[in-house]
Amino acid sequence: MPDRIRVLLVDDDEDDFIIARDIMDDIPGRNYVLDWAPSFNEAISIIREQRHHVYLVDFRLGAHDGLELITQAVNEGITAPFILLTGQSDRETDEKAMRAGAQDYLVKGTFNPYDLERSIRYSIEHAKSLAEIQKLNTELEQRVEDRTQELAAAIQNLEKANKTLKKAQQEIYKALQKEKELHELKSRFVTIASHEFRTPLSTVLSSASLITKYKSAEDDEKRLKHVGRIKSAVHNLTNILNDFLSISRMEEGKIHNVPSTFDLQSFAAEVVDEMQGFLKEGQRIDYRHESEQITVYLDKQLMRNVMINLLSNGSKYSGEDSTIWFTTDIKGDAIRLVVRDEGIGIPEGDKAHLFTPFFRAQNVTNIQGTGLGLNIVKKYVEIMGGELHYESELDRGTTFTITLPYTTA
Ligand code: ADP
Repeated sequence: MPDRIRVLLVDDDEDDFIIARDIMDDIPGRNYVLDWAPSFNEAISIIREQRHHVYLVDFRLGAHDGLELITQAVNEGITAPFILLTGQSDRETDEKAMRAGAQDYLVKGTFNPYDLERSIRYSIEHAKSLAEIQKLNTELEQRVEDRTQELAAAIQNLEKANKTLKKAQQEIYKALQKEKELHELKSRFVTIASHEFRTPLSTVLSSASLITKYKSAEDDEKRLKHVGRIKSAVHNLTNILNDFLSISRMEEGKIHNVPSTFDLQSFAAEVVDEMQGFLKEGQRIDYRHESEQITVYLDKQLMRNVMINLLSNGSKYSGEDSTIWFTTDIKGDAIRLVVRDEGIGIPEGDKAHLFTPFFRAQNVTNIQGTGLGLNIVKKYVEIMGGELHYESELDRGTTFTITLPYTTA
C-alpha cells in the first residue's frame, strides 16, 4: 500500500464529511488523507484529475445521485475504486452499486474505523487486480489480433502459392498436351510422307527411265508426255512439302498476318494462271471478280495459299472436262471468295472431321492428298480475322466461301 492514501469524499452534507474524517482519524496508523467534494460537478472535475486512490460517494447528491457519478466516472475511464455510502443496507442497493462500478458499499452511521479501513484496502486491492486483469485482457486481445492478422497473411500467402501452383500445373498439363499432339502429328507426318511420296517419286523414276529410251525425233510426243508427268509429280511433292511446312510453322506460331495493299482481281487472276498447268484434261477455272472495288489490304502470302489450296481441291475432287467456279467480291465491310466445283462432294458422315489434320473423306482414297490443306486454309483465314463456310453434296459438288473483313492500310 502507498505511504499516504488519498481519499475523496463526495457528500453534500458537511457534517458527514466531519464524521468521516473523525472515523478516518481513528484508523490505526492514520495513513489517510481525506478530501471533500460537496457537489456532483465539483466531484467530477476533481475525479478527472485522478489524484485520489479511492472515492467515497454518498448515494444522495442533490439533483443527482452517487450511482450516476460512479457510472459517469467509470465510463470516462477512471480506474480507482468507488465505495458507495448509503442510508440503508439492502441487496438491491448492493447490486445497483456493483452494476454502476462500485467496489463496495457502506451503510452510513454503522461503520467503524476498522470497517472503513478494511473496505478501502479491499477496494484498492480489488481495483488493482481488476486493472491487472484488464491489462492482461487487452494484451491478450492484442495478441489474438496480431495472431489473427498473421494467420490471415499466412492464408493469403498460401492462397497465392496455391494459385501459382495451379497455374503451373495447368501450364505443365498444356505443355504436355501440346507435346502429345506434336508427337502424334510427327508420327502421322512420317506415315503420310512415306505413303504420299512413294507415288510421285515412282512416277518420276519410271518417266525418267522411259525418257532415256525415247531417242528419235518421232518419240518427241512421248518424251513430252513423260516430262509433263515428272513436272506434275514434282508439283505434287512440292505441295505436300509445302503443306507440312505450313503446319509446322503454324504449330510454332510463326505464321503472322502481314497485310499490304493490292489489286485482288489481278492477284486472283495470276493465281488462276499458275494453276492452269495442274488442271485435269479439259478442266477450266472460271474466275470472275464481281464488284467495282478491287483494292484490298490483306496478307498476299496467306491469300495465295488459301486460293491455291481451294482451287487445287476443286480440281482434284472433280472430273476431267469440268469447270471450277471462282468468284471474288468486295461489298461493304466484307471481302468474299467463293470456290465451287461440281465434283465428288463430301459424304455427310465425314463433314464433322473435315478440319482435323490428316483427315480425308472415305470417297477420296484413290486421290492423292495429305488431309492438311483445309486445316491450313481454315487457320490462315482465322489469322486474317475471317471465316470459312462450306456446303457440299455427295456426287454433286462443293462450295467453299471465305469472308474476310475489309480494312485499309
Ligand atoms: P487433301 O486434299 O490433301 O486430302 P484437304 O485438307 O485439302 O486435304 O482436304 C481434306 C479432305 O476434305 C479431303 O481429303 C477430301 O475428302 C475433302 N475435300 C476437300 N475439298 C473437297 C472438295 N472440293 N470436294 C470434295 N471433297 C473435298
